[in-house]
Amino acid sequence: RIPVICVDGPTASGKGTLASEIADRLGYHLLDSGALYRLVGLAADKKGLSTDDQTLKEPAQARRLGELAAAMNVRFEGHQTYLDGQDVSDALRTESAGMAASRVSAIPQVRAALLQLQHGFRRLPGLVADGRDMGTVIFPGAPLKVFLTASAEQRAQRRYKQLISKGNAANIDSLLADLVARDLRDSSRTHAPLKPAEDALQLDNSALDVEQSVKQVLGWWQS
Ligand code: C5P
Repeated sequence: RIPVICVDGPTASGKGTLASEIADRLGYHLLDSGALYRLVGLAADKKGLSTDDQTLKEPAQARRLGELAAAMNVRFEGHQTYLDGQDVSDALRTESAGMAASRVSAIPQVRAALLQLQHGFRRLPGLVADGRDMGTVIFPGAPLKVFLTASAEQRAQRRYKQLISKGNAANIDSLLADLVARDLRDSSRTHAPLKPAEDALQLDNSALDVEQSVKQVLGWWQS
């Protein structure tokens, strides 16, 4: 069996950083599953398909978005992501892409369309998979599942610093509000809600730096 390490948790908990560090150190592949949902949001935008909550309630719109997700032409190259040959790496990281991702990710047809794509990332020598449902739905048999958490305030602070360091404008209160809204949406949806797998190991990194979190997870992996 090709080994998979799942790193699940809420928005801005540091999953991305932790997962990519672990993947680097073990020489494993990396799946940033959030990027796939963000790509569906971008692709919808490009096609002029609305992703507002009201429109998404229409069965025909949910079906269209599922079809769109299944037909997406995406390519990952190092840290770059291409949609229909166009570099969308920066567009993917914006708050609005994250919110659109959160809305489209509640659609069962979209989640189903991305299943195969995600399984395809499991290649030798191994995979670190970062997301919300890696341990519960996508790789339920994975030998190590980590559920990463941090306080909402801590997560808003980190997101704020990240945006500012890239020269973006940011407001801590609106970031915190977005984050809480996204947490609520992700954990209350009926389809694949955000929750730890029964056999997940929980890691609260509020008071840890990246190196300490990496050491903890590698310790679990080696034990
Ligand atoms: O992790 P990231 O912020 O990129 O994810 C964007 C959104 O995509 C999340 O708020 C969540 O709603 C959704 N998502 C998901 N399942 C995943 C990864 C992300 O529903 N495995």
